[in-house]
Parts: sequence; structure tokens; C-alpha cells
Amino acid sequence: MIDKEQVARERAKEHYWKNREENLKRSRLYRLNNKEELSIRRKPAQAAYRKNLRTRILDAYGRKCSNPECGYDKDERALDLDHIYGKKAEGHEGLGAQRIYQIIIRENFPKDRYRILCRNCNWLKFQDVLAQK
Ligand SMILES: [Zn+2]
Repeated sequence: MIDKEQVARERAKEHYWKNREENLKRSRLYRLNNKEELSIRRKPAQAAYRKNLRTRILDAYGRKCSNPECGYDKDERALDLDHIYGKKAEGHEGLGAQRIYQIIIRENFPKDRYRILCRNCNWLKFQDVLAQK
């Protein structure tokens, strides 16, 4: 006896391949004509994705300022990822935080090139770098 589910699966597969090109064309057109609505619909998922990237970075590098004279850890919003040798040295100039987090995660969180600094220490480091120029 032939399994009814198997027959249905085969039919669905056939139907998919028979109409594949047309369906792809239709969904491409739909995405093109509904960009705004789709972007609104994706917003919560995008925000969750970004938050998850930052959580992974903070988990890996610690949730406090790595300046031993500071050690600030009261509010995570005031913690920055610091490029120890500068964004330029890492080729990260002009990249957004999300892209930078993705790269660092892919590199498996190198501890010799990145660390966490609080906004205050990061600002002071920036001023010192400017003063050296
Ligand atoms: Zn600090």
C-alpha cells in the first residue's frame, strides 16, 4: 500500500519545482513593493538580534570597565567596547556597532585587541589619543 503522506509530499515537491521561478518572482516583487511594511514588521526581531549581539560581547569581555583604576560596573548602558589599538588599526572605521560585534564574534572574542571601557574612560582615552597627534 502506498503511504498517503508520501504521495502528498511528492505532489507538493512537484508543485514547488513546477512553480518555483514564478513564486520567486512574485515574492521578489512583493518585497520590493512592501519594503516599508516589511521593515516595520522586522523591527522587533532586529532589535532582539542587536541586543543579543551586545549581550554576547559583554558576556565575553565582562560587564565592567577594564581600567584597573576605575572598574565601573553600575550601568551596562555606559559600557563601550574599546578597540585597544583603535578602529583604524582593525579596519573598522565607518562600521556600525552591529557589524563590529559580528566580526568580533566570528573572530571568537580576541582579548588582546578589544576590551570593555566605561564611557568616561573611553572618552579620556580618546582625548589622550588626540593630544598625541
Ligand atoms: Zn572606566
